[in-house]
Amino acid sequence: MSATDSVLRLEDVWKAFDEHTVLQGIDLAVAPGEVVALIGASGSGKSTLLRTVNLLEPVDDGRIWLGEMDISDPAVDVDAVRARIGVVFQQYNLFPHLTVQDNITLALRHVHKYSKTRADAAATVLLERVGLAAKARDHPDRLSGGQQQRVAIARAVATEPDLLLLDEITSALDPELVGDVLDLVRALADDGMTIVMATHEMAFARDVADRVLFLDAGRILESGTPAEVFGAPREERTREFLTRFT
Ligand code: ADP
Ligand code: MG
Repeated sequence: MSATDSVLRLEDVWKAFDEHTVLQGIDLAVAPGEVVALIGASGSGKSTLLRTVNLLEPVDDGRIWLGEMDISDPAVDVDAVRARIGVVFQQYNLFPHLTVQDNITLALRHVHKYSKTRADAAATVLLERVGLAAKARDHPDRLSGGQQQRVAIARAVATEPDLLLLDEITSALDPELVGDVLDLVRALADDGMTIVMATHEMAFARDVADRVLFLDAGRILESGTPAEVFGAPREERTREFLTRFT
């Protein structure tokens, strides 16, 4: 694969908060359709890595490419970059004052300049797909946490992004609500969406990811297929982590 075939590429990315270095030379290339799972202890840098890609955190050193665009260039058009990336966080994803339908159409209308009719039609298709067509006119507080996350995912993919970033999207959910959310991510992965996700759902990562990266103190300590990383971890720290989480 040549470098420009990557959907996303990080080259020697460094990030510190004051004295604390949180990302220490991250190198990563994500191929079209690839699903990459970031695992690692709390504080290992997973969220910061995702946030640098979405330009929520400037990097101190290194480069980040989205396709052929150098998005670490300070002069980059932030809105144009974010229009190509879908993001779902752990919680507080939806606008509480908008209906489910309007949460989805907002980005379509403002980022992609869809007409109201076209945006509404697209939202209807998406809500059917995530099994929530009946909730279109409700406000988010009427939905369960799992339903809210499914709407958040629908919104994130509505704009047909090149890349989907998921940061612990099931961590705040009651256990019985996790399955439907993960099923939706699995369906998107099967459809060929390129996904980078931080997760504590090891069984899910094992099942869905093409590649698993173990982050330790801001470095990719180990990476490989799920079978390699979960089945035969090379590093002692990976083994220690996995015994705590599986
Ligand atoms: P993870 O998602 O793997 O739990 P994070 O990327 O959230 O890890 O955090 C990595 C480290 O960076 C932690 O020590 C965290 O306290 C620190 N950190 C994250 N964001 C900030 C911030 N805005 N200011 C200061 N420190 C931060
Ligand atoms: Mg995190």
